[in-house]
Amino acid sequence: MIELEAIKRNIETIQKNIEAAAARAGRNSSDVTLMAVTKTKPAEVVNNLIEAGIRCFGENYPDETAGKIGAFRAEPAARLAMIGHLQSRKAKIVADLFDEFHSLDRPEIAEKMETLCMERNRTMPVMIECNVGNEDSKSGWHFPDESISDLFLGDFEKISKMPHLDIRGLMTLPPYAEEAESNRKYFVRLRKIAEYLNRHCGAHITGLSMGTSSDYTAAVEEGATIVRIGTALVGPRDYSKK
Ligand SMILES: *Cc1c(COP(=O)(O)O)cnc(C)c1O
Repeated sequence: MIELEAIKRNIETIQKNIEAAAARAGRNSSDVTLMAVTKTKPAEVVNNLIEAGIRCFGENYPDETAGKIGAFRAEPAARLAMIGHLQSRKAKIVADLFDEFHSLDRPEIAEKMETLCMERNRTMPVMIECNVGNEDSKSGWHFPDESISDLFLGDFEKISKMPHLDIRGLMTLPPYAEEAESNRKYFVRLRKIAEYLNRHCGAHITGLSMGTSSDYTAAVEEGATIVRIGTALVGPRDYSKK
């Protein structure tokens, strides 16, 4: 398991890279939040991240998260977001345990979450997942050409009107790339979709969750407000114990 000192060193490196990337783009690095992605990692790793000052977390599997929820709740300022594909039958766990839902990837899950949040008398901050790489293996709305489909715009408008969902931004997970540069075009695309929605659809999108361990520097240069980092922060994941 990764030690506290190693985590602190990794945070320092990542923050330096974020600062340099922000500076290259004329942005303020304080507008970029480092989200720690802790799927498959034990509660002790979450404890160490909190000890090292991390307050923003992303998890992918609701059942796994439920098993270590105490680690997140030990720090009242910690914010926990669901960032993985959410099955309808697991939505309740997210409505009960998570602060935010960043992988809203289809109309049905929006309706389900709206109902669950209404019943719980709570509002859920959400991010809309855009499949800008148009990969069949991933969820989210597709953007196969330069246009923005009426299907997406219609869904976006419907979700905007749901009283218990609060759209905070757009999220994307582009194809895996060794080089950050290869994914720049996807980050630009996500930013342009947000700009379009703000200009033509009365939206007020300020959040862009984009960039992972391999490509966050390009994402920050293109406007990311949240970068979601697992491997570069807490080491590779071991799926064998899952
Ligand atoms: C696992 C995951 C990440 C973290 O990826 P790393 O390459 O380990 O940094 C980020 N975003 C999502 C949606 C993920 O599922």
